[in-house]
Amino acid sequence: MPARCCIPLLLLLLTLADAPAAAEPPSTFWPDGARAAIVLTYDDALPSQLDTAAPQLEASGFRGTFFLNATFPAEDVPRWRAAAAAGHELGNHSAFHPCPAASFPAERIFHAERWSVAAMLRDIAAMNTLLAAIDGEAARTYSVPCSQTIVGGEDYVEPLRASGLVRHVRTGGDGDGIVRDPAAIDRFRVPSRSFTELNGAEDLIAFAEAVRAGGGLGIFMFHGVGGDHLAVSAEAHQALLDWLAARRGEIWVAPFGEVIDHVAERAEGR
Ligand SMILES: [Zn+2]
Repeated sequence: MPARCCIPLLLLLLTLADAPAAAEPPSTFWPDGARAAIVLTYDDALPSQLDTAAPQLEASGFRGTFFLNATFPAEDVPRWRAAAAAGHELGNHSAFHPCPAASFPAERIFHAERWSVAAMLRDIAAMNTLLAAIDGEAARTYSVPCSQTIVGGEDYVEPLRASGLVRHVRTGGDGDGIVRDPAAIDRFRVPSRSFTELNGAEDLIAFAEAVRAGGGLGIFMFHGVGGDHLAVSAEAHQALLDWLAARRGEIWVAPFGEVIDHVAERAEGR
């Protein structure tokens, strides 16, 4: 009985294996015929990003987006300025990174529950000023601390949109983190996928491959790289870059602001 039941399945599998691969439609959404886009982002202004992530990106011919807080050491200012001059994007991750009390131990004054929308916008404006002093840029993108947008019981995304302080916002996970219809995206709630010390090279590459296969947009959220908190290993990060470099014409890899600017132009029919 078991053998008979499996013969139709076997025939089906053989049929599928013999079927010619479907021709892939030419991509017209992404630049230069790319069929998908990948964005590499790094939060919290960590030393390992300057020591490891940025050099690996540059050696591989890629540029990433580093979302900075204001609490990094002053001696790193010239290094962040050099990263911007090398073509990386410096984004705003708020100056003081308020998060829910349950997220991690922090002084109560930095708990998001104790903040207000007005305080949050003032903090983001101050971080814009610091970033402008570092890289001279006027327009800025933003990523929400702890992947949550509630301060003092209120969601600050709509006030942030109305404020004009930033032009695009990266949030945290949303399902599998893959944007399958980029033209329909809310540019103030762009999802991403977080990768940490729990993830190896195979996990990073599997996400990139799923994005490539679907023709959409995938945004990696990293923290430490080869050090610091929530760190992927330097080897896993390099393996992802090697995988992307081998598919350079097929996958567009660019900073968050540049990619979402492109999405906005396409969505508006330009
Ligand atoms: Zn953060």
